[in-house]
Amino acid sequence: MTLEELDKKYVLQTYARDYTNFVKGVGSTLYDESGRDYIDFASGIAVNSVGHGNEKLVSAICEQVKKIIHISNLQVIEPQAKLAQKIVELSGYDMGVFFANSGAEANEGAIKIARKYGETKFENKRYKVITLEHSFHGRTITTVKATGQESFHTPHFSPYPAGFSYEKSIEDVYKAIDDETVAVLIELVQGEGGVQPFEKEEIQKLAAHLKENGVLLIVDEVQTGVYRTGEFLASNLYEIEPDIITLAKGLGGGVPIGAVMTRHKDVFAPGDHGSTFGGNYLSTAAGLAVLDILSELYDNGVLHETLLYFEQKLKETASKYDTLFDKEVGLGMMRGLRAKSAEIQGNIIKNCMKEGLVILKAGRNTVRFLPSLTIRKDEIDEGFKRFEAAISTL
Ligand SMILES: *Cc1c(COP(=O)(O)O)cnc(C)c1O
Repeated sequence: MTLEELDKKYVLQTYARDYTNFVKGVGSTLYDESGRDYIDFASGIAVNSVGHGNEKLVSAICEQVKKIIHISNLQVIEPQAKLAQKIVELSGYDMGVFFANSGAEANEGAIKIARKYGETKFENKRYKVITLEHSFHGRTITTVKATGQESFHTPHFSPYPAGFSYEKSIEDVYKAIDDETVAVLIELVQGEGGVQPFEKEEIQKLAAHLKENGVLLIVDEVQTGVYRTGEFLASNLYEIEPDIITLAKGLGGGVPIGAVMTRHKDVFAPGDHGSTFGGNYLSTAAGLAVLDILSELYDNGVLHETLLYFEQKLKETASKYDTLFDKEVGLGMMRGLRAKSAEIQGNIIKNCMKEGLVILKAGRNTVRFLPSLTIRKDEIDEGFKRFEAAISTL
């Protein structure tokens, strides 16, 4: 049986999969089984934040797993406590952290904190959570319902939990708030929805309004967090102080981890929430190494240089091929080109694979770039060379 046949026979077919068999990665270069190389502009959907085979990350993981991989959360876990400290210190917010295993699970934790806050802090029970159109918050029943895309709310999985609604714009959020609203859940740059950032002033105004009205602001930083936007958190870039923030994708450098952090440290009591695997030695040792690597790149200015270089290359390409693209969107290392049609988008993704470049879709017509944050200039150059080769025939 070929690998494709094996996959199709035994793996539930929930993805529209590509069948290139990658066997190795070095930095931002991937190798398939025949030894062919590909430039990686996707980094596992913003997960491989420090690239493939990063020596510091690999050795931190190896050192840890030789000693101990897992013990339950009924025991204190040293790298977990240290990672929580590191996250809180880098964020600059006075918060506490809970560790989970994925983005959806981190958002579930955020919603539970908000719901309990709404139950205990007011005379009436506040439970409603408002989200935004084109958002993406995960694949569990609750986070699917929180996701502001009607196509996700298929009747197959109904009934969904009550108390979720989504609005077309931030202006509409103001009108939707009532005395049962406990929280507004947003991404500052909508990733899956099309790499669409919100205006800083718009977000700051919303944050101030929510604070005044006792409504919690939950920022889903599952994709924007861990330096993806150039700052440790997008919330730092937007200069706001959310009540709750969720993290996942880039935090473990490929090891599954999620985190929810909040300044309402007294809401959860023992027994309110938990996770068997969340924050174990393996994932938190990986998280510590990732944050060491990236905070150093941030402090010495290399991350900023990489962002500028990538941005400049992308802008050049966008203006050269303005017959294919309407505009360039995104910020930091979360970038997109809005293709003139879904067909162009699809053809670009296909051609890129043929040219040896891994790239992503977002929304209906956006070509998405989520390179690793440690990508080198020569890898960026080579990636854009291949990108041009892939689009010049369209
Ligand atoms: C990817 C993503 C999620 C879901 O994360 P999983 O780890 O797949 O559960 C949630 N929110 C945002 C903003 C994401 O980009």
